[in-house]
Amino acid sequence: MLDSVKLRARDINVYYDKEHALRHVSMDIPDRSVTAFIGPSGCGKSTFLRCLNRMNDTIDGARVTGQMLMDDEDVNDRAVDPVILRARVGMVFQKPNPFPKSIYDNVAYGPRIHGLATSRAELDDIVETSLRRAGLWDEVSDRLLHPGTSLSGGQQQRLVIARAIAVNPEVILMDEPCSALDPIATAKIEELIDDLRSNYCIIIVTHSMQQAARVSQQTAFFHLGHLVEYGPTENIFTTPRETRTQDYITGRFG
Ligand code: ADP
Repeated sequence: MLDSVKLRARDINVYYDKEHALRHVSMDIPDRSVTAFIGPSGCGKSTFLRCLNRMNDTIDGARVTGQMLMDDEDVNDRAVDPVILRARVGMVFQKPNPFPKSIYDNVAYGPRIHGLATSRAELDDIVETSLRRAGLWDEVSDRLLHPGTSLSGGQQQRLVIARAIAVNPEVILMDEPCSALDPIATAKIEELIDDLRSNYCIIIVTHSMQQAARVSQQTAFFHLGHLVEYGPTENIFTTPRETRTQDYITGRFG
C-alpha cells in the first residue's frame, strides 16, 4: 500500500517578474518514496522544487501563488519559519557544496545551530549516525577533522547528504545530484537514495531518464511550465498517456 501523502501542491504558479515559469501545478507526493521530476531544460523542474522549501523567496522578482501543504500545513504561511522549514526539507544541489570546514563540522553545523545536541557525546553520535546513513562513515571515520573539500566529488555529495540528514529532515530534495559525478560515484548515490527512501520523502530532479527509471517510484514529466503527466514510474516509461511524454521519453525532443 502507498504511504500517506507528504506534500500536496494545489494550483502552484511561479512568476519571475513577468515570465510565467510554472503553470497551475497540482500534485500529491507520497511519503517514504522517491519521486522523480523529468523534462527538458527550462521546463520548471527546479522552480517547482524550490516551492517545496521556499527557496524561491530568496530570488528577486520571483512570485509564487497557490498552496503547498506539507502534512496539511501551508509552508507559505507567515507562521512558518523558513529556516526551520529548510531543516525539515533538506536540499542537495548539482555541485557538491561542503562548507570550508572539517568533515565533522560539516555534519555538526546544523545540529549545533538548531540546538539538537546537549553534549559533545550526543553531537558525536549525531555525526556518526548521519555519516553512516549517508554511507560514508567507513570511508571517513579515521579523518573526521580533515576538510570536507579534501574528499572526492562522490564522497562530498554523500557528505552533503549526511549534513542534510543530521537535522532530522522529513523531505530531501535533490537537484540533479549526480550530474557532476562519474558513473561509479553515481551508482553509489543511487544506492543511497534507495536506502534512504524507507525513512524520507525524496524528490529528485534528473536529466537522465535511466536514472529516473532506476531510482523512483513516481515520475512527473514537466514541459514548458506545465505538469504534463504524473504517475507510477513504470507507467510513465512504458505506457504514457500523453503524446508529449511519449515523445520525450523516446528522445524525440529535449
Ligand atoms: P529546469 O529546472 O526544468 O531546467 P527552471 O525551473 O530552472 O527549469 O526554469 C524554468 C524557467 O524559469 C526558465 O524559463 C528559466 O529561464 C526561468 N528561471 C529559472 N530560474 C530563474 C531565476 N532565478 N530568475 C529568472 N528566471 C528564472
